[in-house]
Amino acid sequence: PHDWSRIGWPARQGLVLSRLQRGEESEDRRSRYYEQALAGAEAEEEVHDEELFGPAEGLHATYRTLREQVLEASWRAGRELSEPRLDTAIDVNRAIARYLELLKLAALAQRPGDEPTAEAIEAVNGLLRQVATPEQQAELDASSLDSYLLDSEHERGRRLELIAAREEPSLEAFLPRRGDGRLSLSASDLSLYLTCPLKYKFARVFGIPQEPTINQRFGILIHNVLERFHKEPPESDGDGLRQLTSLFETGWRRTGFGSTDDELQFRDRARDALRLYWERERVAEGVPVWLERKFDFKVGDHHVRGRVDRVDRRPDGDYELIDYKTGERKTEAELENDLQLALYRLAAREAWEIEASTGSYYYVLDADKVPAPTKPDDAERVERTVLEVGEGILGQDFEPRPSPTVCGWCDYRLICPAAES
Ligand code: SF4
Repeated sequence: PHDWSRIGWPARQGLVLSRLQRGEESEDRRSRYYEQALAGAEAEEEVHDEELFGPAEGLHATYRTLREQVLEASWRAGRELSEPRLDTAIDVNRAIARYLELLKLAALAQRPGDEPTAEAIEAVNGLLRQVATPEQQAELDASSLDSYLLDSEHERGRRLELIAAREEPSLEAFLPRRGDGRLSLSASDLSLYLTCPLKYKFARVFGIPQEPTINQRFGILIHNVLERFHKEPPESDGDGLRQLTSLFETGWRRTGFGSTDDELQFRDRARDALRLYWERERVAEGVPVWLERKFDFKVGDHHVRGRVDRVDRRPDGDYELIDYKTGERKTEAELENDLQLALYRLAAREAWEIEASTGSYYYVLDADKVPAPTKPDDAERVERTVLEVGEGILGQDFEPRPSPTVCGWCDYRLICPAAES
């Protein structure tokens, strides 16, 4: 989870966060969420030689639980000793038997070597028999502690087996690296990983293709039409709309769109949108100077690559980076923490050595261009994100982040064990 504090909200008194420490021979990595939780709680990590999944498991945890019961039983027995009844002796023997069991747990938890639990229990029971009275021994014999410990041991063994079986073979060889061994990341890779690391794994590590949706096919068509239009600008103003429409109609046929209701709706919307696009372009101040311009630069050890749909030069000499969108329009406020255009602006500086003070999304179907807000620490934010995502991928941290909204649009939901509907 992003927000570690939400994990513990139902807890009334305290919260135990635990992680499995790997064996000495393998690398023992702590996830960044674990680090965040540790820092947020201002807590120290405690190392236990047991598997601590919850307060009722493991010898130490059982010892702590029983210790409470012993204190309670002592208190009750003490009260009865001050006002003796017929069954006071029974309660006193019971309290002593609980105390002997506490001793047993302490002995088992501290036993040296790898003696199997069953044998260790038997050995301690033999010693306790020498000190317990017949009444206390009867209480010990009636107790279910031994079978509880043996069952827990069995469960623990099974769980470790399951964990071991779940360990995946390393995906090291399949991570998307360049020839120089560095990771290669694009803006969409970052967005994919941040949305759901498991989805990233399916798409970029396993390379399982996704069926392009009608929206995606339509988006590609519009990108191609606009690229070609600006590469071969019309000779006169009067030719502009005709040329744009002609490129679109040709592309529409070639891309294999049919005549379903959805497709025809897209076509009608596109025709209207391209007309508005042209009207806007005729009077635009900026002039496209690069189309589909590629970039490649390094952040830390990673390559960051991509291409910008269009770069305009404005009358004041400034550059504007433009990304075409055919999806739902977002407002400036919704783009407050936008990563893609912030990354493009950093790319312009690092890879092309130009400063672009503005980055905008051109919502073609709405004929509206929306600039993404810029902040002084944008570059730092992008670099931090690249490093975090890179660390996650190299560490093969592909934990799913399911949610009904995200999984509902995910092509991998049929094969994903974590999908939420
Ligand atoms: S279905 Fe959900 S959890 Fe699974 S990969 Fe897709 S987004 Fe992630």
